[in-house]
Amino acid sequence: MKRALADNVQSLRQFIRGPLNNPNPLIAPAEYYVASYKPILGYLQSNVSRTILLKEFEQFRPQLLEIVDTWRKEADEYLVNLVPQPSSKKTKGRSNKGNETAVANPLELAATFFKCRWCTEPITYPRILAHRCLLRFRNHYGAPKNQGMNFQGDAARVIDDEDSEESEDIKPGAPREPRAPKEISADVAWVSLLETQSTGMKAGNTYVTFNEEAHSVARNIIQICGEDPGTVTQTKMHKKNARLRCSCKAVMNWIRAVR
Ligand SMILES: [Zn+2]
Repeated sequence: MKRALADNVQSLRQFIRGPLNNPNPLIAPAEYYVASYKPILGYLQSNVSRTILLKEFEQFRPQLLEIVDTWRKEADEYLVNLVPQPSSKKTKGRSNKGNETAVANPLELAATFFKCRWCTEPITYPRILAHRCLLRFRNHYGAPKNQGMNFQGDAARVIDDEDSEESEDIKPGAPREPRAPKEISADVAWVSLLETQSTGMKAGNTYVTFNEEAHSVARNIIQICGEDPGTVTQTKMHKKNARLRCSCKAVMNWIRAVR
């Protein structure tokens, strides 16, 4: 049951990473995040006895796009909250140069870097949203596996699954609801799967933190370049970088310097 469910989540993953990106490429959440949504989960659970084909997810396209959109907003908000707020309101007000009226999104600031729990490399936004560790399966220690789990059809695991399924069904003390046994085991299988699978970046998950170290190095470099680290965006620093190339060899590539 658990394995069959996991296999169907893999079909979902392939659909999200493949056809759903057409015509517009997406930054998509982890498949287990997507699969947690009602209509999708219901479909996965009620078709657990067979392999769901990739094209079958086409019927959920509008819902899937909505889930991706909801996740993006949720993830953005989550990340914004990780960024330390500037102490004075002045920096929030407007650009001091006067040629930019909009307040820069904290996520797009050049000094904003994130840190993944399992990597050392500073990660910028929006790269962090698609960061590989957050989209991978985890082992028992919570660390992502080296390669995505690719069910290679080993019989031993199937047998393990069948065994554990039985014990799951007779979990002592579990609330018994008047439902068909099949439904209960699909639910139990799902809960049990979620314990080991990554739902990626979302509220409640703590795999991403603000990268203080990279932030402070970046601030220094930005200041050396004569910009305000509180307001300058990644885009502006990239453009500036091109100009700096000729005049200031020490700051050839400010991003590389941070890393
Ligand atoms: Zn990582």
